[in-house]
Amino acid sequence: MSSKPGPEKLFALDLMLGKLAKWLRLLGFDARMKDLSNPGEVPLLLSRGFIPVTRREKLKETVGVVFIESDRAFDQLKEVISRLSIDRSGLKMFSRCMVCSAPLSHISKEDAFGGVPDFVFETATDFRKCPECSRIYWAGTHRKRMLERLESITEWKQDAGGQDGGE
Ligand SMILES: [Zn+2]
Repeated sequence: MSSKPGPEKLFALDLMLGKLAKWLRLLGFDARMKDLSNPGEVPLLLSRGFIPVTRREKLKETVGVVFIESDRAFDQLKEVISRLSIDRSGLKMFSRCMVCSAPLSHISKEDAFGGVPDFVFETATDFRKCPECSRIYWAGTHRKRMLERLESITEWKQDAGGQDGGE
């Protein structure tokens, strides 16, 4: 299994929370989409160690379920972070595919050739690839903007509480 203590939380997001799922993956969490309208689904997920996240009123009182009040993805992320007391340390940000939730593999600059825009190939470092969908990710301005947004809702600082990226 994993060699370092990373975020062990495993999220099961209700179907309407796709954008929130992407943000959680960005933080390094495994976030799967599930249909929580099925009555048997939540107990099953809980027994498998998932944290179900939903906006369904019916599930509001269910122990172990994170009920989301907001309808905006970024505010939803804020809710999850504060509800579960997630802090920056130990997070493996940018380690998962935003689409598949699969852990990304580091690839060399050479291997990124042709898979990224030319200007990215020229300037970027730290290329990572999704084994499921073959998307390539890199450190760049987009990542920096997302970190700045995260800082705006948390006490997190870019240069505190561990390194960004790395192994
Ligand atoms: Zn992918």
